[in-house]
Amino acid sequence: MNEKTAQWLVWDRQHCWHPFTNQLDWCDPSFEPLIIERGQGVWLWDSEGRKYFDGNSSIWTNIHGHSHPHINAAMKAQIEEISHSSFLGFGNARASELAAALCDFFPSNTLERVFFSDDGSTAVECAVKMALQYRMQSGKPQRTKLVAFANAYHGDTMGAASLGGVSLFFERFRKFGMDVSFVRNLDELYLLDNTTISAVVIEPLIQGVNQMHLWPTGMLKQLRNWCNAKDVHLILDEVMTGFGRSGTMFACEQEDVIPDFLCLAKGLTGGYLPLAATMTTDAIYRAFLGSENTFYYGHSYTANPLGCAAALANLQLFKTENTLADIRAKSDEFGKLLEDNFSRHVIRRCGMMSGIEVRQNNGSPYAASEQVGARICYAARNHGLLTRPIRDTIVLMPPLCSTIEELRYAVNALSAAMEDVCGA
Ligand SMILES: *Cc1c(COP(=O)(O)O)cnc(C)c1O
Repeated sequence: MNEKTAQWLVWDRQHCWHPFTNQLDWCDPSFEPLIIERGQGVWLWDSEGRKYFDGNSSIWTNIHGHSHPHINAAMKAQIEEISHSSFLGFGNARASELAAALCDFFPSNTLERVFFSDDGSTAVECAVKMALQYRMQSGKPQRTKLVAFANAYHGDTMGAASLGGVSLFFERFRKFGMDVSFVRNLDELYLLDNTTISAVVIEPLIQGVNQMHLWPTGMLKQLRNWCNAKDVHLILDEVMTGFGRSGTMFACEQEDVIPDFLCLAKGLTGGYLPLAATMTTDAIYRAFLGSENTFYYGHSYTANPLGCAAALANLQLFKTENTLADIRAKSDEFGKLLEDNFSRHVIRRCGMMSGIEVRQNNGSPYAASEQVGARICYAARNHGLLTRPIRDTIVLMPPLCSTIEELRYAVNALSAAMEDVCGA
């Protein structure tokens, strides 16, 4: 290990606190954390000069690859103008352009307003606050309840976490959060007293953190119809699925659904900077007009110009690189590679998002105590692949720009790591 790496690791272990991390394991001498120093396209390099495929798109954010010349240039140009100015009291050029560009994806008279924030959690937080305040200001104060789905994940701030159904993350904070009803499916939703519901929140098509659980086809459309019939708002959390990952720009397009609130973050800047957007309709926006009804919400870096510049460049690349034209074919190829290599395991996939739930030779799951998922991902480093498991489900979520060759590389690397840990 070179001297620089050794020093960074000392400081990391002494002073850094990593997200979702058992710091005892992290600091254990038998575990070697990697310090990532550089990225290019789908590749990452650590401080020892080792090269890896970015198998989870840097926690589901990267779209067109790292250090893309077009996004880099847009950010550099913006830095020369200004990196940040306040959106409270002022506008900025990039935010105007980005809001218009986002609304352009949707038919007029649907999603027409964009409220910027910083990350997925705040995009959801903001949608929930808007949904609740809207009811107070539109003659339906009894609609105070929120409904979310079992095993959902919507972020970690207290409000967003209240909507989370993964007990390991949220249970100990449940009593501090909002009053949320959880349902496992639409049948359970239909049984609730809907006259007090403000909004239903869902990750459309696929629940990422719930080990890439796929919703039944048509479910989203049915949910939209039910919401319409019952005067309940639909909040779609497309923080993971947005920006092409599902095979269409937004997952909701696949069932011809437009929500009342749309939450966007991770891929919004192509995976370059933290920026989020909560989109909503004119009807909802109008209930917030006037001093009595103002939406008192915001963050210091709301609509950060540098983030907006990265996001605009990200959207331009969808056009100039024709990203969506071949994403269906590419994800079918990706699916075929997974089936060819991991037939013994359980594969769940939606577009370029996949989870491979590891199974023993006889088809049964491994004991949780064996930590097979974590061991496979650790072994994958030796084969030039970085990704993370969710329990024993290995996430493979390559950047959309991955070539078939690169996808094959990633699948082969994972295959080799599985062989190391589980045998052939
Ligand atoms: C990652 C994620 C979030 C939270 O986003 P952060 O940027 O990590 O706050 C919310 N919802 C979904 C579906 C996510 O995948």
